[in-house]
Amino acid sequence: MAGASGGLRVWGTMSATVIILIALIFSAAMLTGVMLIAWRSFGRPRHALLWAAAFAVATVEWVANLAFRVAYAQDDATFYAAIAGLGCLSNALLAAGFARRSRPQAGITPFLIAAATAALLIVGAAVVVPHDGVRDATGLLFGGVMMAISAAHVGRRFRTASLPERSVTLMLLLFALLDGAMAVVALRQGIAGQGEAFALFRTILVLLYPPAFIGVGIFSVFLVAADLAETMRMLATSDVLTGVYNRRGFEDAAERAIRNAHRQRQPLSVVVADIDGFKAINDRYGHGVGDQALCHFANRIERLVRRGDLIGRIGGEEFALLLVNTCPADAIDVIERIRRDIAAMPVSGPDHIVMTASFGVTGLRPGDISLASLLARADRALYRSKLDGRDRVTSAEALEEA
Ligand code: GH3
Ligand code: MG
Ligand code: MG
Repeated sequence: MAGASGGLRVWGTMSATVIILIALIFSAAMLTGVMLIAWRSFGRPRHALLWAAAFAVATVEWVANLAFRVAYAQDDATFYAAIAGLGCLSNALLAAGFARRSRPQAGITPFLIAAATAALLIVGAAVVVPHDGVRDATGLLFGGVMMAISAAHVGRRFRTASLPERSVTLMLLLFALLDGAMAVVALRQGIAGQGEAFALFRTILVLLYPPAFIGVGIFSVFLVAADLAETMRMLATSDVLTGVYNRRGFEDAAERAIRNAHRQRQPLSVVVADIDGFKAINDRYGHGVGDQALCHFANRIERLVRRGDLIGRIGGEEFALLLVNTCPADAIDVIERIRRDIAAMPVSGPDHIVMTASFGVTGLRPGDISLASLLARADRALYRSKLDGRDRVTSAEALEEA
């Protein structure tokens, strides 16, 4: 064994680069492990596996880099090129993960081809030309482009993006900018990579690269967890059969809408709808066809209300609607349109089932502090629609006047 003297020699020659490499190796290895655990525990999303692979490749890249620096004193063009290739692959896998997260059918081949092309360019700049500035700048630019592509995927709809998605987008953009800025500084090193520009490049690299890398890693793990939380929230608040809100989801969203309407002094209407003779549909055509009819019913309503309105399935064949910024008189017009549409459009399938539904409508009043009182009034109006012969709309307001 080389013993203490060998260890001391390594310690004595340990440069800032070596220290940073060790820190990066630990960070990348930990991020690989955490991402693998996140993948296994949080529903096995494919993109998390790509991200784990990206961090694993980064770990290998830096271990190789460190091993090389400890073993050899001076640069070796071929070895540098191999390491740069791993760097490109790691960046490409990260971006491929983001692409797959936003579009499940996205393939990783274009990313691998891009990484191979960038690696070839780097090899060209390192071995064939050789030009240190171009070599380093190419790798950094490629990393920047991959970060920008990742940011574009996660922040595609920035206005409607969740807070975690927005923060990840900003983090990635910051990393892309950093890569771009470092590429500019790297270019100024010139052919042999010496002098002041070289020193500046090394300093920026050592100071800013590790926190940026760790930041992107932490935020992507966070994104996997945030996605799971969002999926759970969706499962807990939506109806599995029809896709509209379930009772609980409708109540939560409706209570918020009611508070808003009071605060902004805007009208709001609540509707309860119940399919007529639904038991007969089940009995005659079977439960499966009954389920189809329920989906059809929810679907038709979704097409006919505005974007901000709420639809919930609050019972077996009973639905509730909340129409924002709509007074009862206007709500009746909307519901009449829905009623006619339902009665005219047969459920798709061989049976051409045409069903009807009954509706009860009511408007928000100053005393309505919760959804319950509105639902109770709309329910009474619905009961009247049933009594009066079904396939009709009754408003609680008209009922009270009469
Ligand atoms: P009315 O005109 O008075 O509303 O008569 P109806 O037959 O629609 O009313 P009733 O409440 O007697 O029947 C509701 C039926 O809805 C009974 C139940 O079996 C059926 N149902 C409840 N949930 C589901 C479901 O998830 N799928 C299917 N296929 N049927 C359901
Ligand atoms: Mg019914
Ligand atoms: Mg019913």
